[in-house]
Amino acid sequence: MTVHKQHRANKALGQHFLHDQHAIQKIAMALPEGSSVIEIGPGPGAITKALLERVGHLTVIEKDDRFADMWREESQVYDKLDVIHGDVLKVLDASVKQQQPEWIAGNLPYNISGPLTAQLASHSLSGGMVLMYQREVGDRIMAGPGSKTYGGLSVLARHHYHVKRLLLLAPGAFSPPPKVHSVVLLFTPHGITPQCPFEHLQTTVRQGFAHRRKTILNNFKGIISVENFESIDIAPSQRAEQLDYDAWVRITLLLHPSD
Ligand code: SAM
Repeated sequence: MTVHKQHRANKALGQHFLHDQHAIQKIAMALPEGSSVIEIGPGPGAITKALLERVGHLTVIEKDDRFADMWREESQVYDKLDVIHGDVLKVLDASVKQQQPEWIAGNLPYNISGPLTAQLASHSLSGGMVLMYQREVGDRIMAGPGSKTYGGLSVLARHHYHVKRLLLLAPGAFSPPPKVHSVVLLFTPHGITPQCPFEHLQTTVRQGFAHRRKTILNNFKGIISVENFESIDIAPSQRAEQLDYDAWVRITLLLHPSD
């Protein structure tokens, strides 16, 4: 019996267990041998087992009691394995600070993948991230200016990283199969020092994309004038989805001149 069949999937925790061996190997091989990694949501461990064979240190963060207990037992056997039992949205920042991983990996629970990605993108890792998403969310992250799917996540992801698609997976790669395709994205550091703090960029982007159909001038009404926009080379009649990462940084620096 394969591992995933022993465990009933909990829908509320976004559980779709990966069983495609090619995908598992490709994800594991994207991480350098001997590196230190945090895996989000190991579940029954399709990716985790491959990672344990390859990486130097692995910390898993799991909310489901069954899997957290299972991995805690495994950690008695594997010296290189640490287990954090909790909600990744609450424990991620402290875990990254404490573990200082080079890489973060995971087949992310789809129900929290948006807010989780915003949080993940705030961390500047020396290695990068290998993350699995529902295709639609992955497309939003990958999108560039001018596209309908371009949004806050696309801008935030570019603060520290280049993003490229590593894999496209059909629903049959998982058990139970999700309704949609999935993608694996590889985030690698671009190495350019950001001009503003991530948190300030995040506030700017949130406000700028609040009403997609309004002009950028309207979204910042009473805060940024026509002249101010023109002074940073942005036509105030543009919409948020037309502005590239550098334009968002210029707006952020206008709002936080001391950065
Ligand atoms: N890694 C396994 C795989 O690829 O087969 C499971 C992936 S499944 C899509 C998502 C995993 O994240 C599940 O193990 C689930 O219990 C866990 N999870 C869901 N919400 C979580 C949260 N808020 N914090 C930590 N783990 C969570």
